[in-house]
Amino acid sequence: MARGWSAIRLSKFCHKTRWLWVAFSLVVLPAGWALAFGGPEHVLGTVLIGGFLRTFIFLNGVMGTNSLAHYFGYRRYHDVGKATNNWFISILTLGDGWHNNHHAQPRAASNHVSWWELDFNGWTIETLGKLGLVWNVQKRDKNRAAGHPDPHQLEGKPVMIFAEPAKVDEAVS
Ligand SMILES: [Zn+2]
Repeated sequence: MARGWSAIRLSKFCHKTRWLWVAFSLVVLPAGWALAFGGPEHVLGTVLIGGFLRTFIFLNGVMGTNSLAHYFGYRRYHDVGKATNNWFISILTLGDGWHNNHHAQPRAASNHVSWWELDFNGWTIETLGKLGLVWNVQKRDKNRAAGHPDPHQLEGKPVMIFAEPAKVDEAVS
């Protein structure tokens, strides 16, 4: 968090100016890029590919983390539900596809455990931490045990167990 700015002020600022960032990312930046390095005839194509298609692929990668990375991939930790480590989603999201690792230690800033689990997001946060630009970076516990599979998961039953709904007192209604 930026010093001198409360989390609430920063999030209010981002919320108020959100459409500005959307327009900047989808249109202004790609159009500016096309004008700077190509010419006016390249603006439409660059906005469509560099703005809209890029956003479409990235958003599907992010959403794929919560779908594909719960079915396809490998599990390093066996006591965290269905989440898997998925290299394809990791490429699309720059590292968020190591979703089983994330489920095992959700507060850790990085999702990689092995060196070959490419995690540009995690490396960026770690580098910013080393430079002193962010702080209180949550580290991964290297001794975290692999755990045993949830028995409900093995039987094909839903992993999530909800509490019993509170009983309504019929005498009141
Ligand atoms: Zn998940």
